[in-house]
Amino acid sequence: MNLNLKDFEVWFVTGSQDLYGEEALRQVVEDAKHVAASLNERPEIPVTVVYKPVMTSADEIRRLVLEANASEKCVGLILWMHTFSPARMWIGGLNVLHKPYVHFHTQYYRDIPWDAIDMDYMNLHQSAHGDREFGFINTRMRKNRKVVVGHWQDGEALQDIGHWTRVAAAWQDSQGAKIARFGDNMRDVAVTEGDKVAAQIQLGYEVNGYSLGDLTPYVDAATDAQINALLEEYEASYNLTDRVQEGGELRDGLRYSARIEVGMRAFLKDGGFKGFTTNFQNLVGLNQLPGLAVQRLMKDGYGFGAEGDWKTAALLRAMKVMSVGLPGGTSFMEDYVYHLDPAGSRILGAHMLEVCETIAAAKPVLDIQPLEIGGKDSPARLIFNGAAGPAICATLIDLGNRFRMVVNEVEAVDPPADLPKLPVARVLWDPKPNLKVAAEAWILAGGAHHSVYTQALTSKFVEDYCEIAGIEYLVIDENTEISKFKQDLRLGEIYYHLAKGL
Ligand code: MN
Repeated sequence: MNLNLKDFEVWFVTGSQDLYGEEALRQVVEDAKHVAASLNERPEIPVTVVYKPVMTSADEIRRLVLEANASEKCVGLILWMHTFSPARMWIGGLNVLHKPYVHFHTQYYRDIPWDAIDMDYMNLHQSAHGDREFGFINTRMRKNRKVVVGHWQDGEALQDIGHWTRVAAAWQDSQGAKIARFGDNMRDVAVTEGDKVAAQIQLGYEVNGYSLGDLTPYVDAATDAQINALLEEYEASYNLTDRVQEGGELRDGLRYSARIEVGMRAFLKDGGFKGFTTNFQNLVGLNQLPGLAVQRLMKDGYGFGAEGDWKTAALLRAMKVMSVGLPGGTSFMEDYVYHLDPAGSRILGAHMLEVCETIAAAKPVLDIQPLEIGGKDSPARLIFNGAAGPAICATLIDLGNRFRMVVNEVEAVDPPADLPKLPVARVLWDPKPNLKVAAEAWILAGGAHHSVYTQALTSKFVEDYCEIAGIEYLVIDENTEISKFKQDLRLGEIYYHLAKGL
C-alpha cells in the first residue's frame, strides 16, 4: 500500500510547572528532548515523533492542543508528566482536544541511583505521582485514552506505543475519508445496513451512493494500452490458467476484467475515495461482477465490502493503514462453511470472489469460472489458500443506538486437501477458544457474516481503535466463557445507554 507512516506525526508533550525553578525546568526540557528523539529513532514507532515544548501553564497547553487539532499530520499526542503538573492546568486543553492521545507513564531514569539519590533527584523525577495526578483528571473528565507504563527504552512499552500510533494514523486517515457505495445494498440484507450519519459523526468517514452508470463511463474509457499493461502485470504476478492466457478461449473475459480494473481505479482516484462497496444484484452496465479488480484494489490499500457493506469497507481501510509495513496480510472475509468434526472443528472463510491476495500462502492462480449467482458473465478471480498462523476476524455492527465491534482471535491452518473444485480464494481457521464457543459468542453479539481478517494485527489494535472511537469492543479469545460473555453483553447495554449522560 502506497502510504508512508513517517509522514504522520505524534507529538511528544511533557508536563511540568513553574515551581521548580529555572535549573530544574532546563533539565526537564533536556530530558524530554532526549526521550522524544530516542522514540523517534525506535523501529517500534513507525510515525515521526515530534518534540514539543515542556508545558507549564494552562494557556500553553490550550494553545498546543489547538495547534494539534489543526494539524493534518498530527495523529495524536504522547503525554508524560516528568514532574508534578497540577492537573487543573490540563482541563482547558483536554476539553478542546480532538486528537487521540496516549498517556505514557514513564520515568527518565530506569533505576533508582541508590547511593546518589538526594532531594534534588526526588524533586525532578516525579512521574510516579505526577502521572497519577494527570491520570485522575482524565478519569474525572471521562476521557478515553491509552495508558502505557514502562521505561522509555523498554521494548514492550515502545511496541505498545508504536501499535497505538498505527491506530491513531488509521483514525486520522479515516477522518473525512470517502467510501463509494456502488448500487446500494444487497436486497433484504440486514447486517450490511446501518446509520451512515451516525457513522460519520462517530467514526469520521462519509459514505455516498453511486450508480453503476457513474462507473461505466470510466470502464468504457479504458484504452487498449492500459488493458495490455494490466494483462502484463497479471502475467508477472499470477499463474494464469490456459484458458485465460494469450490465445486461450476465455482471454477476452480476462481483458474485460482488466477493463473493469482500469475503470474502477480511475473512478476511485478521481473521487479521492479510500474504499468502496459493490453489489452483485446491481451491475447494470457491467458484464462481470468485479472480482479480480476488487482483489487487486484491496491489495493496494482500498477498503472493500461486498453487497453494499460500507462498515466493513471502512474498517478494512483502517486496518490496512494500521498494518502498513507489518508482516501478514489483511482482507475482506466471510465465514462460509464449517468443518464440524469434533476432533478439530474449523471455519472455511472465503467470499464468492473478493479476498485480498495479501493473505495468500503462495502465488495465486488467475482463472475465470462461473459464479452461479448474479446472472452475469463468468468473472475473473484469484484463487489461493490463506497462509497459516495467528489471525483475527473483526466485525463492526450497528445496534441501532451504537456501534459494536466484535473480534475473534483465530489460528489459520493449512487445508488438509487441495479443494480442486472450489475456484475461490479461501482460508481455513480454528477459532478461539473453539468453534462452538466462538460461534455462539459471535452470534449472541450480533457479529456479521462479513469481517476483516488480518494476520498483521492483533486484537489489541482493534481495542485501541474502539477506545479512540468511543465504541463498544468485545473480544472472543482463549478465555471466553459464554456465561461471562452474556454478562458483558448485558453490561454493555446499560453502559452505552448511561454513558450518553455522563
Ligand atoms: Mn457476502
